[in-house]
Amino acid sequence: MTMATPNMDTPFQPRPSRRISTFPTPPPPQELRLGISGFRYADLHDPAGLERLFEHFSAWFAKEDAEAHAAWSAWRVQPETLGSVALSALLVRVAPFVGRYLAQLFAIERESERLSDAILADQPLFDFRKNFLKKRVLRGDAGKGFRFDEAAASGLAALVFAWGARSGDDEEMRVARSSLALTALATKLRGGASDASLAALKAALHASPKLAALWDEVRAEVATLEAGDEDRALVDWLLSAVEACLVARHRDPSDSMFRWTSMYVPHKHDFEALVPLRRKNPALPEQVEGPEEQRRQRSEPFALTDRRGSRREVAREVDYCIYCHERDKDSCSKGLRDKQGAVRKNPLGVDLKGCPLDEKIGEMHQLRLQGEAIAALAVVAVDNPMMPGTGHRICNDCMKACVYQKQEPVNIPLAETRVLEDVNSMERLLIDGTEQGTVAVLSILGVTVVLFASELSR
Ligand code: SF4
Repeated sequence: MTMATPNMDTPFQPRPSRRISTFPTPPPPQELRLGISGFRYADLHDPAGLERLFEHFSAWFAKEDAEAHAAWSAWRVQPETLGSVALSALLVRVAPFVGRYLAQLFAIERESERLSDAILADQPLFDFRKNFLKKRVLRGDAGKGFRFDEAAASGLAALVFAWGARSGDDEEMRVARSSLALTALATKLRGGASDASLAALKAALHASPKLAALWDEVRAEVATLEAGDEDRALVDWLLSAVEACLVARHRDPSDSMFRWTSMYVPHKHDFEALVPLRRKNPALPEQVEGPEEQRRQRSEPFALTDRRGSRREVAREVDYCIYCHERDKDSCSKGLRDKQGAVRKNPLGVDLKGCPLDEKIGEMHQLRLQGEAIAALAVVAVDNPMMPGTGHRICNDCMKACVYQKQEPVNIPLAETRVLEDVNSMERLLIDGTEQGTVAVLSILGVTVVLFASELSR
């Protein structure tokens, strides 16, 4: 095959356009309808419109909470008067108003409430972890207060789990909710109050002659001093049965409970072995490979984006955070420093400077914990309006400087990306095909900065 030699004497001729003239021109986009009258989408891209919007927000906020508005206005006039802890507290106080206003502005109040409910719905798992698993199950002497066998513990626990669960609960939530409900019932009875739900529990117990016979045996030993003693003894006995059942399950590493979010145990940080390696060939110790089960199975081999964290996994990270901004110790944001104030290094010699943008990370987690999805995004947007370009699998300086240095740090990028994507997915509902969700979420971020940041809105 011969190739045509370009003639250097011929002046450059542009190629004819390859555009297909019959390709339909897309219709002009429909304008996004805003939820606050007097404002149009175009106003969000115009300084005068944004100024008007800011005044409207300020007036609305003053009506909603005059005290919070006054504190916020004072800070805007003299930002230097607030120390770090007070500023964090103010931002956490104001952010939910910004979130509610944005929900109104973009007419996504219903979606916002639904998202908030979905976030708060996971909270029983973390209460269960703190108040039941840690106190009753993950202790050395756990399960010893129940003197019958495992089958009895399991039968009684199943009865409790059926009593306390709600329809739609998965196994972990069923166990969590029921154990917490039974603990609350025990506290109530100890305080001398009664509770109608006890009747259903008793009825379920007596429906099983075998389990009822066990209770008869225990009851015979209860010294009935006052009315109500027997009920208290029954509930305490059922609690010890639930404890014994979970302790028995915890002895079996193949039990599904090891996959529960509430059972997650952060692993110790070994800087000499950050990547787990296996040596399969003893004759060739330098031949190493990563664990089979941690390999990424991708249906699309070149896709760079993984499945991200589920809402429940993100809730686990938010629960694991200890909100250090309340003590001005949020090293994820401000860097980890020694007593002289110098930035510390980790054992690998990496500077622990924290987020280069000083993002309000602890504050984001605190607002997310409260179910304030848009407010959590807003508080990050103050320092990082371009958060779609950061987060999971992109940067992790914050995570490296987290206060947890000897064990797994809080997975901040995972949480941050989910905070963004949750709002992004709400946006997809409102845009009616007008725009892509990412473009719409950028509008939210832009407006947030104008409403929230002191320098821009003064
Ligand atoms: S992410 Fe880590 S350093 Fe930051 S507030 Fe939470 S626990 Fe503290």
